[in-house]
Amino acid sequence: MDCLFCKIASGDIDADIVHEDEAVVAFRDIAPQAPHHILVIPRRHIATLNALDDAELGGRLVLAAQRIAADLGVAEDGYRLVMNCNAHGGQTVFHVHLHLLAGRAMGWPPG
Ligand code: 5GP
Ligand code: ZN
Repeated sequence: MDCLFCKIASGDIDADIVHEDEAVVAFRDIAPQAPHHILVIPRRHIATLNALDDAELGGRLVLAAQRIAADLGVAEDGYRLVMNCNAHGGQTVFHVHLHLLAGRAMGWPPG
């Protein structure tokens, strides 16, 4: 399958990996939108949030982000988790990923 994030998860394409376990890989976004911008992905290819059918895996993505935020020292100041889905959500890479944005105050509403 020709999927960028599958290739990062398998190690075929380099990324600045900050966390990995048997189910989840997390790496720095190539075009960071905040001082810390991490993408947390399942190893298993799932194209969009609409196709996520595994509650445990969804929980693992969130708990990995929580742990990375703690490891980065941003848990107390706070951070934002975002999952973009399809065109109106602004999704550009069709392998589910959770954005962890931290290191500055975020605006609301998002664009
Ligand atoms: P989306 O717009 O689908 O929610 O987010 C995709 C994210 O993947 C974007 O923030 C984009 O900067 C990031 N991205 C795209 N290509 C690469 C890449 O080759 N390496 C890394 N580390 N991030 C990428
Ligand atoms: Zn994939």
